[in-house]
Amino acid sequence: MDLSYILNHLGEDRARHYGAVVPPVYQTSMFCFETVAAMRAALADELKTPFYTRGNNPTVELLRTKLAALEGAEDCLVFGSGSGAIAAGVLALVAAGDHVLCVAKPYSWTRVLVRDWLPRFGIRVDFVDGGAVADYAALVTAQTKLIVLESPNSLTFEQQDLSAIAEMARARGIVTLCDNSYATPLLQTPLALGIDLVAHSGTKYLNGHSDALVGVLAGSAALIRKVFRGPYMTFGAVLGPHEAWLALRGLRTLPLRLARIAQTTRAVADFLRTHEQVETLYEAAAPTVSRFGLNAGELAGSSGLISITLRGGPAAADRFCDALQRFLIACSWGGYESLAFPIAGLSVSENYQATAARYATLVRLSIGLEEPDLLIADLAQALARSANGSDHD
Ligand SMILES: *Cc1c(COP(=O)(O)O)cnc(C)c1O
Repeated sequence: MDLSYILNHLGEDRARHYGAVVPPVYQTSMFCFETVAAMRAALADELKTPFYTRGNNPTVELLRTKLAALEGAEDCLVFGSGSGAIAAGVLALVAAGDHVLCVAKPYSWTRVLVRDWLPRFGIRVDFVDGGAVADYAALVTAQTKLIVLESPNSLTFEQQDLSAIAEMARARGIVTLCDNSYATPLLQTPLALGIDLVAHSGTKYLNGHSDALVGVLAGSAALIRKVFRGPYMTFGAVLGPHEAWLALRGLRTLPLRLARIAQTTRAVADFLRTHEQVETLYEAAAPTVSRFGLNAGELAGSSGLISITLRGGPAAADRFCDALQRFLIACSWGGYESLAFPIAGLSVSENYQATAARYATLVRLSIGLEEPDLLIADLAQALARSANGSDHD
């Protein structure tokens, strides 16, 4: 299906809404019926029919339809956050006595879910430090039910051999889930590589405007129904109609935003790569991490995240961020605005101490839609200040 058809027309059904060009927001918690028979008919399939908004809402369903088409999935559910989506996907697939494999450096709350919560319910977990299928196959047991992947991750951009891991897992009846937030379906479609479930923090590029939290889970109709009947309806971490409408609006321009962001990011990376203040540049294209994704063709390109470590240690990283004028100091990423996220700043929270200790001098940059020259000039002046520790304004 062609991309602009999905973004502009698929599922819009304008005749149902007085020809409204933009879909209305069905800001309602439930739907009423003329007769009991009509109610019964709706309730027969709560995933597909408006009855109660936790199950189905037309605005939310339109977003689901477009996201499923983008990922090449039979169906898709959307959640109140990416973490809600990942937790629902994981919890739908495991039970006491099962074993789970998870990539070694997933998103921080994915790590908390897998490392701290699953063992409370009698599920054994191993983290896999590597991207090759052999790294995973070596730890598979007869009890392994799920492999959690994230390729590339959003801090240091390690990639996994998705097609080979999916094939190995499928042959053993193991379900695979991959967080695809970095790439978006425009740069990578894990389902086409054999992965069973794709998760997104739609908060990032899919919505793209830093004004809503959105989670996505896409896969086969059978798997999505399993998640729907289980954690989706019981935990209820669903997306509201208004947020769904915002995400639909954001999604219209995804290809334009991503192309511009990727182009600017290449220019910024070229500038940082040779800068004397920069100790290490982390990017999805780096040869150390890209052999499974970008180089193998599973990932079609880089998006807009890069990380750097600076000479001069954590203090230099602080000085660098403080001196930035165009970049905002903030977590998250994937919006229209450029951000700098100093990982050392996480050390004050017990949830992030391991990450903060491992990456004490790392600053992640999320590149936005500003003029590339302005961003590079801002980085240049901030790097100069980070080098001159004791200098004042
Ligand atoms: C932000 C993020 C999440 C979590 O999504 P939320 O919408 O913040 O809950 C999951 N995975 C990755 C890679 C992320 O960057």
